[in-house]
Amino acid sequence: TMAHSKALLVLENFIGGKFVPCSSYIDSYNPSTGDVYCRVPDSGKEEVELAVKAAKAAFPVWSSKSPLERSQILNKLADLIEHDLEEFAQAESKDQGKTITFARTIDIPRAVYNFRFFASSVLHHTTECSEMTTVGCLHYTLRTPVGVAGLISPWNLPLYLLTWKIAPAIACGNTVVAKPSEMTSVTAWMMCKLLEKAGVPPGVVNVVFGRGSKAGEALVCHPDVPLISFTGSTLTAQRITEKSAPHCKRLSLELGGKNPAIIFDDADLTQCIPTTVRSSFANQGEICLCTSRIFVQRGIYSEFVKRFVAEAKKWKVGNPSDPTVNVGALISKEHLEKVKNYVKKAQAEGARVLCGEGVDSLVLPADNQKGYFMLPTVIAEVKDESKCMQEEIFGPVTCVVAFDTEEEVIERANCVKYGLAATVWSSNVGRVHRVARRLQSGLVWTNCWLVRDLNLPFGGMKASGIGREGAKDSYEFFTEVKTITIKH
Ligand code: NAP
Repeated sequence: TMAHSKALLVLENFIGGKFVPCSSYIDSYNPSTGDVYCRVPDSGKEEVELAVKAAKAAFPVWSSKSPLERSQILNKLADLIEHDLEEFAQAESKDQGKTITFARTIDIPRAVYNFRFFASSVLHHTTECSEMTTVGCLHYTLRTPVGVAGLISPWNLPLYLLTWKIAPAIACGNTVVAKPSEMTSVTAWMMCKLLEKAGVPPGVVNVVFGRGSKAGEALVCHPDVPLISFTGSTLTAQRITEKSAPHCKRLSLELGGKNPAIIFDDADLTQCIPTTVRSSFANQGEICLCTSRIFVQRGIYSEFVKRFVAEAKKWKVGNPSDPTVNVGALISKEHLEKVKNYVKKAQAEGARVLCGEGVDSLVLPADNQKGYFMLPTVIAEVKDESKCMQEEIFGPVTCVVAFDTEEEVIERANCVKYGLAATVWSSNVGRVHRVARRLQSGLVWTNCWLVRDLNLPFGGMKASGIGREGAKDSYEFFTEVKTITIKH
């Protein structure tokens, strides 16, 4: 109705430093109420074309600025986002369903830090030099920005992951066209409002909102976009790889995971249990790094399970804006159904649900009855071959199984198509080193989870991705290297 649509937030694309309306829009839902609260441009080829043109036009000036000039602008942008941190956190929580606490303490602070981090790190790179005295030659390398970068990000950590791409891309002197997830576009749009004030010239950062299949694909297929940095599912990455192949594009692909936690009988359970509950259920389990297969050594299995379930049951599900809530709403109705179906499949296969979906009752506040909520769910007695142990669920569901030996658990942990992150819990240093080395995983955390130094490479093996991101890795991805030889 007219009265209803008046209250809706309407986003516009940001192209060449200006907000531009789109000819059609998509509804965006508030996951904690099930209401449409926002309309997002349904961009396609035309909008992408304009954005790429604007980015191309801005490239010569932006790429010839000194790293220090660009760094100052990135720092200014970080300050402006930080100044509005609470507003950004509220928006992220409402748009995504995540708790306000998570948005306040993780998402938005990290988005701010992404800009500060690359503003600093970009000043410290050096290139290589080598001498060949016998032939009187000196070789050296130069790195130059590539051009217009296409950036595609998912819905789970919206501003956090988008800025993890924008910051290094523009710090290195590229200009960008970004396409956030259609379901979580609000904070990207809010950031666009700050770009001019930060001193980002028009056309350096363009944001085109819309669906992956339309706007995303137009960006991937655009001949003037030589590199694509993508974070999302393995399935979409396969499609992007296919579509970009005719153009020989440079791709960075950060994809899904099926992350194991391996808990040996000498683990410090007082640390391990709360951390593993967090690694399983943080952000509703909607983090690519979340644990979803817990392997516990037989001797401590029953004690672990008892304490783990008791701890999981303490996690409060409810209105994301309530600061005492630990688990917010899942991203969409479809996603909630998909996650619940995994639990049903496991039960049908004979697995046992120890707590959560189907066994405990979920009491929600009156305003949240139509929201997409689900209790943290722990499943035991699941076979390694079952879908719940092989496929990424991406929700608040984790499986617990027992193991006997180090050799056995390494093999079982590696028997999935993914290889993103693993955690190992043991007080035996030698064992920790041995196991970490043999796990097929881009990241291994021992006796901790989600501790990141942005200087170091981030990314996955096998179906979890291609390429790494981090200070040096992002610099290499977002620049073109050239070897120059001088004979004297
Ligand atoms: P997704 O469906 O692959 O979508 C990711 C992005 O790609 C969205 O912006 C999506 O747009 C767009 N897209 C979809 N189809 C496209 C196409 N054909 N061409 C170009 N772009 C296209 O993933 P998601 O469901 O949003 O995110 C969850 C997945 O991301 C999980 O698998 C998770 O593990 C992974 N993830 C990985 C990392 C990591 O660092 N490794 C981090 C976070 C998440 P629309 O959504 O608007 O359609």
